[in-house]
Amino acid sequence: MTRDLARKRPQGATIKGRVLVATVVLFAHIFPINLSLSARQDQQGIPGQLSGKQGEVLLVRIPVQASPLRVEGKFLNRLVPFFPGGNNHYAGLVGIDMQAPPGAQDLVVEAHYPDRTKRVTMTVRVLKENYPVQRLKLPDEMVDLDQKTLVRVRAESKEIQQVFRGVASERFWSGKFIEPIQGRVSGRFGSQRIINGQPRSPHSGEDIAAPEGTPVEAMNNGVVRLTMDHFFTGKGVIIDHGLGLFSMYFHLSAVEVEPKERVKKGQVIGKVGATGRATGPHLHWGVRLNGSRVDPYSLKNISVGEVSPRTN
Ligand SMILES: [Zn+2]
Repeated sequence: MTRDLARKRPQGATIKGRVLVATVVLFAHIFPINLSLSARQDQQGIPGQLSGKQGEVLLVRIPVQASPLRVEGKFLNRLVPFFPGGNNHYAGLVGIDMQAPPGAQDLVVEAHYPDRTKRVTMTVRVLKENYPVQRLKLPDEMVDLDQKTLVRVRAESKEIQQVFRGVASERFWSGKFIEPIQGRVSGRFGSQRIINGQPRSPHSGEDIAAPEGTPVEAMNNGVVRLTMDHFFTGKGVIIDHGLGLFSMYFHLSAVEVEPKERVKKGQVIGKVGATGRATGPHLHWGVRLNGSRVDPYSLKNISVGEVSPRTN
């Protein structure tokens, strides 16, 4: 059965980092912004009105009185597409990258009308997250790559980046997001990784340990953009949920969808495995939001139903 994220928190709550996340969850509200785009241009940001930790996703709602052609925002040089959210407002997901600079940052939102553009500027306080340190031991050939493997890894990384550049103008996701599998979190999002004694890139997803062959479900509706068998990720699937939101499922033993295939929330897309660079069977679940590396579990407070543009 499907599980919505609001009812299920990752296990392993005894580790320090997880306790911090649980605290964040209590304070991570859905932020209604009472600024009217039709009221006045260039309103100044309201300090303290919006805040989120590194790696968090914020749902921002903006009242819109007339029907704009398009509403979009910019946050730390990243696009924030807004979409009709019902009851005369637009909604947008702001992704705070795991390494976004802490402090006050502008979120500038523009509503484009045939004859004019209305703009509001809000302040988003980016709070520092205290990521845990994770020490891993891996076979040397999986860490110190030979020339041939390096060339392969670079090409594969390029292929993935290319996928993230294609921002679908349609929102495929709706309602709540679900956890792709149930299991113990064995590698926390944002962990500072020390592999064989050397500091490496931080961990950009959640690792969930589960037995080989456990069915993996799509976290929401979307379109499969890439299926692959890469050096690091092993067999994997990338799903496009629209408006710049992507989810990744790596180290699978089997992939059960095809590129361009439409998938439904809860649909089985593959099976848990240990392909690629993995020490045991687990799912690496990652989420990218308009270029930002965000914690998949921060989607737990996000829910917007299907809304016809005509209601706005
Ligand atoms: Zn991982």
